[in-house]
Amino acid sequence: MTKKQTITAPLGACKRIALVAHDHMKGSMMEWAMEHKEQLARHKLCGTGTTARLAAQATGLEITAYQSGPLGGDMQLGGGIAQGEIDMLIFFWDPLSPQPHDPDVKALLRVAALYNIPVATNRSTADFLITSPYLDREYPRQAIDFGAK
Ligand code: PGA
Repeated sequence: MTKKQTITAPLGACKRIALVAHDHMKGSMMEWAMEHKEQLARHKLCGTGTTARLAAQATGLEITAYQSGPLGGDMQLGGGIAQGEIDMLIFFWDPLSPQPHDPDVKALLRVAALYNIPVATNRSTADFLITSPYLDREYPRQAIDFGAK
């Protein structure tokens, strides 16, 4: 395979942040969202159906809800990343339970890696991302130049 060229595709100062938590991780996600409500309020939020609704109730923030994860929500988020409409993914996946939509979960993580967006797959990493100086300023993200010959 030939080496892919990269370009700078900046992530704006106002981030579009997607939230996803598997069922056993929702409590932890709600605690995290409450703890960082002030930072989250400065950005545009979305998430898979149940996670988005619970987080909106817990924090009072506006959060766009896609389909529930097992009904295609993870794929919608993956599509959003590919379209350049999602800048960051906070995904509390459950390492102890099998998921019916495991292929979708894998696809979402693959697309997030491909487009080189910041991804937190556990609470510690989410804490690091939400306290990063890049959260509120433009980040010069490098991405593959798919248009390059
Ligand atoms: P949910 O989906 O937020 O609708 O529960 C999360 C998931 O299981 O991927």
